[in-house]
Amino acid sequence: NAPVNQGTVRRDSPPRLDVVRLRQDFPILYQTVHGKPLVYLDNAATSQKPRSVIETETRYYGEINANVHRGVHTLSQRATDAFEAARDTVRRFINAARHEEIVFVRGTTEAINLVAASFGQRLQPGDEILITEMEHHSNIVPWQLLCERSGAVLRVAPIDDTGELKLDEFARLLSPATRLVAVTQLSNALGTVNPVRQLIELAHAAGAVVLVDGAQAVAHRPVDVQALDCDFYAFSGHKLYGPTGIGVLYGKGALLESMPPYQGGGDMIRQVSFAGTTYNDLPYKFEAGTPNIAGAIGLGAAIDYLNTLGLPVVAAHEQALLAAATAQAMQIPGLRLIGTARDKASILAFTLEGVHPHDVGTILDLEGVAVRAGHHCAMPVMAHFGLPATVRASFALYNTAEEVDVLMHAIRKAREVFG
Ligand code: PLP
Repeated sequence: NAPVNQGTVRRDSPPRLDVVRLRQDFPILYQTVHGKPLVYLDNAATSQKPRSVIETETRYYGEINANVHRGVHTLSQRATDAFEAARDTVRRFINAARHEEIVFVRGTTEAINLVAASFGQRLQPGDEILITEMEHHSNIVPWQLLCERSGAVLRVAPIDDTGELKLDEFARLLSPATRLVAVTQLSNALGTVNPVRQLIELAHAAGAVVLVDGAQAVAHRPVDVQALDCDFYAFSGHKLYGPTGIGVLYGKGALLESMPPYQGGGDMIRQVSFAGTTYNDLPYKFEAGTPNIAGAIGLGAAIDYLNTLGLPVVAAHEQALLAAATAQAMQIPGLRLIGTARDKASILAFTLEGVHPHDVGTILDLEGVAVRAGHHCAMPVMAHFGLPATVRASFALYNTAEEVDVLMHAIRKAREVFG
């Protein structure tokens, strides 16, 4: 997995993030909103970008810009080298075995749609796809569409009232008919961390292929796709301190090899004629058209940035913030936490008695605090808890204990205004 850079921290002292210093890497944080210092706690929606990512993209357009894999000229070769180097950075970050197992896509949503469109072609009436009740819409709707096309049946493993997956129900729903299991590693609505290693083992024992939605997890936990033994792993660059419009589908080489192309166009072909077309090698078979070259290179820079901090150190910092926020939130009268799983990361979702989540969000915004209020693209989770919406604060590596205090102060203010 990605090496942890211990920096100048001595091995006998637990490494800590120097948040005061690293915040300076994120220019966007230095602004006021409604006259208050910005407290950005909407990281599960998208995270902010360090200067190194912004500068990498600017430098790419200012110095290298050319199309990849096409030209013999120098700039094209430089662009291709930088693009492929970014692919290798991604490969190392998730410990994929092979370069060609990393497919660049627009984001998690496209990665899942790619698998549904391509792998999905082998599904037949009576086959089953198993997901969970806590999935993001982008890990639900592509499977519903596939079921409509193929006659396969969608099964849903339920969650309990803490927001944990009911493991016995998950296991019970697996059968020889299960062709595919698609499960999130970290719920964006609840913060629940699923025991994906265990789920993958159960699914494989039933003969199913497993896709892990890593959109949230990848920024908060080290991911090793070989240790997980997942068949597919999907994530987005923009939740990982990288640019929007770039994401990754990891797939086991043999599986990707056996799948038909997703989209047709330039780059994904070897030979085109009206008598018949042959397709390119992996990963290009799945990368039709000019890719988001600057985005991929920017994503590589984001991963480099995270690696210099060390994801385990980042995770420890975020867990401390979540623990502090949870303890303080529980002291606020009328506040109900939504999602109290034993294994949680980065996300504090709640409702406030008598106050609509959107009103909480608006009051918080007036205090400079950016949170998300809504269904978080997880309407089945809202339905489970009988709610139209929740308020969600989500933490990232640049958040501080002081910001948790500001959040709590603002929530108390919302209570006073509407109480
Ligand atoms: N899956 C989860 C768990 C998410 O949180 C998100 C985004 O919020 C997605 C999938 C979709 O990601 P994107 O919109 O970047 O494609």
